Parts: sequence; structure tokens; C-alpha cells
Amino acid sequence: MAARTGRIHSLETFGTVDGPGIRFVLFMQGCAMRCLYCHNPDTWNASDGREVTVEEILAEIEPYIPYYDRAGGGLTVSGGEPTLQAPFVAELFKAVKERWGLHTALDTCGFCEPSPVLDELLQYTDLVMLDLKEMDAERHKALTSQPLDRIHRFARHLAERKQPAWIRFVLVPGLTDSEDNLMQLGTFIEKELPNVEKIEILPYHRMGIYKWEELGLEYKLHDVPDGTPEDVERARNIIEAARRQVREQRTVSQTVNG
Ligand code: SF4
Repeated sequence: MAARTGRIHSLETFGTVDGPGIRFVLFMQGCAMRCLYCHNPDTWNASDGREVTVEEILAEIEPYIPYYDRAGGGLTVSGGEPTLQAPFVAELFKAVKERWGLHTALDTCGFCEPSPVLDELLQYTDLVMLDLKEMDAERHKALTSQPLDRIHRFARHLAERKQPAWIRFVLVPGLTDSEDNLMQLGTFIEKELPNVEKIEILPYHRMGIYKWEELGLEYKLHDVPDGTPEDVERARNIIEAARRQVREQRTVSQTVNG
């Protein structure tokens, strides 16, 4: 049987921001979203990048296993959008678990339909890092070029599976930071996603602009300033206030209903 292959954009052997501990981070090629603030537009085209086998990636990971073990880290597959190559990622996750018992994390935008092949991948995934970007359907379409409902279906699917998840939210000044969006985000998480263990708020930054220019793409957020720690603090407070509200309403209705 031919070895399973995947197309990757790049890899990092000492990642510290994509999941717990020190991690091997594999960036897959291909993404159907077109987020206005994307840092990696060079991952979009599914036929670019490098074709690799699962064994090749395992050989890249192997020398660093003691570091990942010691630091409570593991393997993160990111992108691009890794679920577009779910069979490859599933085989890779399965192999690292069987060989080294490594922790696995899937960093995804959630733009994928629940399916048997996706469930197979989730079965070998210890942590899903799910990007939620904008809670209003029209604004979501304008920001990412894709509809919101599919992402929420995926989020609910993770909750049904009790799949441990972190939410990653990019705070873009003037775009995703409205009080309304943050309240809706907090409410959605508290009401529907009991599997969420952590919310990471990532401030928008302009580091990827040069890639848009290199690719001849028009970058539309030139006038948007970088997010600040104060912006993040404000957003966190609003999200947490929304979550508290949901919890209080729950307590009231439990009391009323005996
Ligand atoms: S989902 Fe991620 S990789 Fe895809 S366009 Fe958006 S930010 Fe870029």
C-alpha cells in the first residue's frame, strides 16, 4: 500500500505558543477561509507546499521527544487548515500516540463538516484549539469569506463529544472587538460549549502583511492598529461578564424550577 502523504507548509521544532508546553508544530497547506487578517496567506493554496509522508514527519519529531516530554508538550498540527487533510493528520496523531504517547493538539478554524474521517482524527486528538472569529453571520462572511453556521456546527459537535477544547479569538480593533461580538462569544461558550477549558485572546498584529504583498494580494486592514494588552484585558472582562450572566440565569431558572 502506498504511504499516506500530506502537503505541509512548514514545521517548527520548539513552538511555545500553540498549545501546552514545548511543541513540534506542523503547518499544513491549504485553507478555504480568506480571513482579512491572515498571517499565513501563503498556506491558502492547497497545491503549494511540500509533499511528505507520515514517516518523514515522525523522523523529524523523534530527536526532540525528550524535550516535549519534559516540558509537558507534544505535537500541534496547525495551518492553513489541518482538517482539510484529516486522514493524514489522523494517521500522524495515531502514530505519535502509539510510539511515544505524545500529547496531540489540533489548531483549526472549524470550517469542516462532522464526518467519520474527522471523528477518526478527533479520536486521536487530546486538545482542539478552535478559532472563533466573529459571532454575527454577515460580519463573519465579510471577515473570513465563509459562513458562520458550519463553524458553530463543528463547535457543538466537539461539545457533544466532550472533546477538550481551547477557544482562540483574534481581537482586531474596530472589527471583532465590539461589545456585542464579545458578549455573544462569551454567551455561546458558556451556554453551549462546556468542553472549553480556556479562552485565548490573541491581539491582532501586522506581522503577516509582507506575505500578502509578496503574493500580490490586497491587504485591507492597513489602517488597523495592533491590539494592545489593555484591549485584551477589556475583551476578557466583557467575555467573562457574559459568561457570568449565563451562569446566574441558569442558577435562577434552576431555583425557580426546583
Ligand atoms: S483560517 Fe487561519 S489560515 Fe485560514 S485564512 Fe483564516 S487565519 Fe488564515
